[in-house]
Amino acid sequence: MLKEIITSEQASLLTDIIRESDTIVCVCHQNPDGDALGACLAWAELLRTVYGKEAQVIVPDQYPDYLQWLPNSEKIIRYDKHREGCDWTLEHADLIFCLDFNTAHRTADMEPALSGSPAKKVLIDHHLDPAVEAVVTVSQPESSSTCELVFRLAWQLGCFEQLGKHFAVPVYCGMMTDTGGFTYNSSDPDIYFIISQLLTKRINKDKIYRNVYHTFSENRLRLTGFVLYQRLVVDASRHASYFTLSREDLQNFHFMKGDAEGLVNMPLQMKGHRLSISLREDTEKDNLVWVSLRSVDQFPCNEMAAQFFNGGGHLNASGGRLNCSLAEAVDIVKKAILAFENKLK
Ligand code: 5GP
Ligand code: MN
Repeated sequence: MLKEIITSEQASLLTDIIRESDTIVCVCHQNPDGDALGACLAWAELLRTVYGKEAQVIVPDQYPDYLQWLPNSEKIIRYDKHREGCDWTLEHADLIFCLDFNTAHRTADMEPALSGSPAKKVLIDHHLDPAVEAVVTVSQPESSSTCELVFRLAWQLGCFEQLGKHFAVPVYCGMMTDTGGFTYNSSDPDIYFIISQLLTKRINKDKIYRNVYHTFSENRLRLTGFVLYQRLVVDASRHASYFTLSREDLQNFHFMKGDAEGLVNMPLQMKGHRLSISLREDTEKDNLVWVSLRSVDQFPCNEMAAQFFNGGGHLNASGGRLNCSLAEAVDIVKKAILAFENKLK
């Protein structure tokens, strides 16, 4: 049995505000991943099935092709493409669910419209330090994913019974993608109880896995080979590595958004390796480098991301960005590895 994640007062407040709201919106962070999108779609499905409310899912920008098969993803509206309409919707919403982010700035260009909206907000998230002004905050950094929290809420509110595949599929997808297919951050036995429940909705978990992970283009597979062969720099004595992807490299492999996803995990396949950092030049903006960090055991990626890369995240998976050239970013990476040398031993 699952323990309750909100108090009974919070639960009745949550159901009351859902019932009294006519216009509901679900939003997530920029560069939506499987968890962000899964949580939005699953929660919107719950609002529709259980409460008869048509919630609009608005995402800040493009999401990866390998998530386009998710049920109801065709109803998602992109803020970057429909700014005026989204501004109006956010301004006139009664209730906004903020899913899978801890501060409004993670919604990038959508932040002013989100923060300025008079709508009531509910935060459901698993990042540290929630800083969204919300009437109900469901924040559990120890959870595998926001999708896990969406499930736990559905369970606690007693509505899981009523829900079907269109709820179970995105929840499973988000839990799976935020744990690398249940290979990290996924030792809580509850996770497997939740999966067993999701399977009762007759989801095909093997197909979900293939839909997400086995969709490489030839270019993407070759980009992986190129990075590992030509761009990976290994600091063997410090059990750390980094790689760069310049705009030119990306163009050579006809880079599509999402093509670099997961690459940063690969160096951790080296025995004893503890930290992997990826530096990717933005394909459009000059002097913008996207940083991803992955680690194993107790190495704190989030501390390194906060100190060196204007970012944050989880212990073993974090991200950030640098406003500089790729060469300057490499220098910062070297400094960061030196500064954390003791924690890499
Ligand atoms: P990724 O490397 O996939 O972009 O990000 C890894 C993890 O770090 C994700 O869980 C993401 O939410 C988190 N993350 C990425 N960028 C930031 C950031 O700027 N701030 C914070 N707090 N978390 C981030
Ligand atoms: Mn997440």
